[in-house]
Amino acid sequence: MVTVLHLCRAMFDVAIVGGGPAGLSAALMLGRCRRHVLVLDLGHPRNHRSCALHGYLTRDGIAPASLIELGRAELSPYGVETRAIGVTGAQLIGDHYHLSLANGGEERARYVLIATGVVDDLPAIEGFEECYGRSIFHCPYCDGWEHRDHPLAAFGRGAQVTGLALGLKTWSEDVIVCTHGRRLERGLRERLDRNGIRLRTERIARIEHVEGALTEIAFVHGNPIPRGALFFTTGQHPQSSLAISLGCTLNRRGTVKTGMSCDTNVPRLFVAGDASHDAQFVVVAAAEGVKAACAINRALQVEELKP
Ligand SMILES: Cc1cc2nc3c(=O)[nH]c(=O)nc-3n(C[C@H](O)[C@H](O)[C@H](O)COP(=O)(O)OP(=O)(O)OC[C@H]3O[C@@H](n4cnc5c(N)ncnc54)[C@H](O)[C@@H]3O)c2cc1C
Repeated sequence: MVTVLHLCRAMFDVAIVGGGPAGLSAALMLGRCRRHVLVLDLGHPRNHRSCALHGYLTRDGIAPASLIELGRAELSPYGVETRAIGVTGAQLIGDHYHLSLANGGEERARYVLIATGVVDDLPAIEGFEECYGRSIFHCPYCDGWEHRDHPLAAFGRGAQVTGLALGLKTWSEDVIVCTHGRRLERGLRERLDRNGIRLRTERIARIEHVEGALTEIAFVHGNPIPRGALFFTTGQHPQSSLAISLGCTLNRRGTVKTGMSCDTNVPRLFVAGDASHDAQFVVVAAAEGVKAACAINRALQVEELKP
């Protein structure tokens, strides 16, 4: 009986894994294309620690959770189904995917869009995580304006932290590089020096803060430095291994290599948002969701229409 019910279950045109800006934006467009769409989402977007989302035209300063709420509400007229659940596996069988869900259930869809985002790698330094999203950030474009003219720190190593520190000069004259025990090569040190950026290579003991608002960086040796915010470049990893397990090719950054339409090297599989490209902004993720949606709809049309 269970098997009969299972077999009778309708096949979705598209299953979207991840209900952040990329996934919801794709769902909106596919819903408007009258597609049978299922969104499966764990509900843990990359910016969940952030208080305000910036640089999204008409929504500058909105709470990230409010944007998601608005996005979900806009899906309802189009019959898009959303479920708060993780996808644990996927398999392409013939011309459709079988998706395994965290509750042991299964769904089928002709196309899959993965929009599962990334997670930032935070160093294990006392106080770092508490300040993350409040006064510690990875992106000056997202949070630099709010800390303009504040004393800033750039955290990381080598050429990456040097580039970050130089970029931060757009927002503040007072920038110090912290390498947490790593040496910086001479050419980079000289470039920092020429641009009036100080360097601290000692290991950091802890980040002092008041309820997530950074006040001071304390070192294992040497004087602490008062700072208003810290920007870091320490890497990231995919939030889900689904795309990798399906055989997607990765780019140098470790995210999925995609084509112009968010297509991948795997049949019937698209990837959008932070999980693919390296311009990682909400507005870009939303735009990629739309591009993927149109490409999937075109692929479905090719299958449905007579030549
Ligand atoms: C502190 C901070 C501040 C930021 N500020 C800004 C800003 O001001 N402006 C801006 O443009 N960008 C900002 N960003 C970047 C922004 O968060 C990302 O670019 C954006 O969230 C990417 O959207 P996405 O849909 O690709 O992924 P996400 O928003 O990360 O959404 C992915 C979704 O997929 C779900 N998921 C993952 N795996 C599974 C699975 N196996 N099954 C089901 N669901 C799954 C996740 O739980 C999540 O809900 C900030 C990021 C951080 C960390």
